[in-house]
Amino acid sequence: MRVMAQMAMVMNLDKCIGCHTCSVTCKQAWTNRTGTEYVWFNNVETRPGLGYPRTYEDQEEWQGGWVRKPNGRLALRSGGRIRKLLTIFSNPKLPSIDDYYEPWTYDYDNLLSSPQSDTFPVARPKSLITGADMNVEWSANWDDDLGGSHEHAARDVMLRGIEDKVKLEFEQTFMFYLPRICEHCLNPSCAASCPSGAIYKRSEDGIVLVDQDRCRGWRMCVSGCPYKKVYFNHKTGKAEKCTFCYPRVEVGIPTVCSETCVGRLRYLGLVLYDADKVLEAASIEDEHALYDAQRACFLDPHDPEVRRAAAEAGIPADWIEAARKSPVWRLINEYQVALPLHPEYRTMPMVWYIPPLSPVVDAVKDTGEDAEDRGNLFAAIDALRIPVEYLANLFTAGDTAPVDRVLRKLAAMRSYMRDINLGRDVDDAIPAAVG
Ligand code: SF4
Ligand code: SF4
Repeated sequence: MRVMAQMAMVMNLDKCIGCHTCSVTCKQAWTNRTGTEYVWFNNVETRPGLGYPRTYEDQEEWQGGWVRKPNGRLALRSGGRIRKLLTIFSNPKLPSIDDYYEPWTYDYDNLLSSPQSDTFPVARPKSLITGADMNVEWSANWDDDLGGSHEHAARDVMLRGIEDKVKLEFEQTFMFYLPRICEHCLNPSCAASCPSGAIYKRSEDGIVLVDQDRCRGWRMCVSGCPYKKVYFNHKTGKAEKCTFCYPRVEVGIPTVCSETCVGRLRYLGLVLYDADKVLEAASIEDEHALYDAQRACFLDPHDPEVRRAAAEAGIPADWIEAARKSPVWRLINEYQVALPLHPEYRTMPMVWYIPPLSPVVDAVKDTGEDAEDRGNLFAAIDALRIPVEYLANLFTAGDTAPVDRVLRKLAAMRSYMRDINLGRDVDDAIPAAVG
């Protein structure tokens, strides 16, 4: 066992209201500069939708920077030095500004004086660069309201190859928000893709950073990151990415996005993991086994053996204690309600998600009963509006069983807490039924 410490995050998607406070405060803190107008270390995308940058999950389209070796290690696609250089010069997999969006500003005159209308907005945004009206056809949140969400949802579902499982009749459309930051992966392909060795993973807390002095602007990290969470600063000519707010974390305060999150949905914590298991887990062939394999890399911080090994590895006692108190380990391993985003990318992401349970809708609409009441609990799960297949495609490489298990747990907890809040006798059979 080789114990290492890692900063990690769990986000509870049921609580995200899509207010974008996290994105705005992050931008004010880190990317409020020339050269980073289009850069969002934190973004919140509407699902189903095309994401940010557009269709970044379509790995056939974008995955150009790295390949997976048989041992699970990620490496540059090309072999020798010359081929490597050729790959760099012909890096064809970079998203263009159209795949992010052209930074824009409001036309304030029009905004205030435009005539009343049935729909809004009526003014087109203006490009910050050319000053011209923009022909906006999509954005990471285009699917919220007036953007033809049905069409984009269909595109998203087709991209995932689950169109035979997810019905898209209009009354069955669904949406939720997916906030995203860099995953600070245990097996970071951005670092593997960098020819200059400028991207590194801090050994003490696993935060992945770009050394600005060493970066030569090759942008292989941009194409190499399957989550597209490295950005190119066109002013400095260097790559930039989320720093997990390390200057704040180092002095014991949370990341800006966590501190300002209106939904209070971001759980931060230190986890201990077995570094010897990482490549083994990343190289498992069966994609459905990846979620369990990635979870198995985390070590129980209550286990005296783990604590002893952590101390021998030089992890400070107060960090080991912090790992013991971490909500992240509990949510991932003890309660088993948090899931990784796209484990099939095999970078071992360290931002996990509690999938959205709501809206529980028409489970008992004919009788008018409350779908979230204990008697209707599992009927409600079976009638969830967000298809389990869709969530499984995001979080468990398509395996629906773990997602179904999590949703049942969340429904049971909701029903159980409702009983307590209403002063009813609690039904202990509910938590027992879902473990
Ligand atoms: Fe690197 Fe992308 Fe993983 Fe972040 S999400 S550590 S940028 S590979
Ligand atoms: Fe969601 Fe919190 Fe960001 Fe608002 S601040 S969009 S609730 S993650």
